[in-house]
Amino acid sequence: MVEALLPSYRLTQSSLAALADAVTNLSAFTPQVDTDGFCRLQRLSTRVLPSQAFSSFIPLKKLFLPPREKLWSFQSGQFSEIEQPEPFAVVGVPLCDLQALWYLDQVFAEDLPYQKRRARSLVVAMPCEPMPECRCDRQLMPVAGDLFLDQQCAWALSPAGDALLRACGAGAAADKPLPWPAAGPERRPLLTEEQLRSSADATIWAETAQRCLSCGACSAVCPTCYCFDLLDETATDGSVIRDRRWDNCFFAEHAKVAGGHDFRPERANRLHFRLEHKFFGFGALHGQNGCVGCGRCRKVCPVDIDLDQIAAQLGEEGLT
Ligand code: SF4
Ligand code: SF4
Repeated sequence: MVEALLPSYRLTQSSLAALADAVTNLSAFTPQVDTDGFCRLQRLSTRVLPSQAFSSFIPLKKLFLPPREKLWSFQSGQFSEIEQPEPFAVVGVPLCDLQALWYLDQVFAEDLPYQKRRARSLVVAMPCEPMPECRCDRQLMPVAGDLFLDQQCAWALSPAGDALLRACGAGAAADKPLPWPAAGPERRPLLTEEQLRSSADATIWAETAQRCLSCGACSAVCPTCYCFDLLDETATDGSVIRDRRWDNCFFAEHAKVAGGHDFRPERANRLHFRLEHKFFGFGALHGQNGCVGCGRCRKVCPVDIDLDQIAAQLGEEGLT
């Protein structure tokens, strides 16, 4: 993938102040480290923009695809409208999370609640300090979002971001690529789809599945995991509420369908499925590696399971 040149701008003190005002006039969220040491997306409590990005424990996806939401209800003969979300901003997100946002934008391209939230959001990325777990790759996929801010320099990532910078009086500079952090020492292993498909009986699945607790934490924190379940709650008066809730491919019930058949009854099947979905995508995203290398799953797994390590082992040791 050729690295894109993007419109960039120079910010003076006054244009930066105008930008900070524009962002903080919205309901703004930012990743902040809490007193318990966890980094969470929290409301920005000052009118000062952060200067650096942090990787929040639960990523950006929760603002666009909430863990639980009402999609519609039918009560007293009336369908309810999906509520129009308030405009909001998210500032201080790392570039790998903007790749994950691009990925979700493709998955939910025709999903009204998701698109409404996206249309009302302003997403601002900033430089990050890579952690030991990070394996981001600027070539992996495009980024979504609106702005990238690096002190006195800004990049416009969307027409809305471009318009905002101009409105704040930023001065146009030459188009240039985004300043990604330098690649870490670890390289992502290369595994072909064919290798993965023919590995269904490899011993590594059963061995790893013996350690896996099916807790689902890796999928919950993954910025590109998006499985959900739909639940209709019906009442005797005929009213119905349709809820959408996060689901998780590690959960035992995930692949169970009407009639009781379970497509992935064993934990080893579920592990294989997760790796296949993550690295080789489905539908319009088939062939797209959906792992942005943020390292969240490695950090959170209580038994140190690492998808890249499984891929490396399958690639190096063959399918024994
Ligand atoms: S590193 Fe883990 S959590 Fe991050 S995108 Fe890849 S699979 Fe998801
Ligand atoms: S976090 Fe680890 S133990 Fe939990 S489901 Fe994921 S791989 Fe299994």
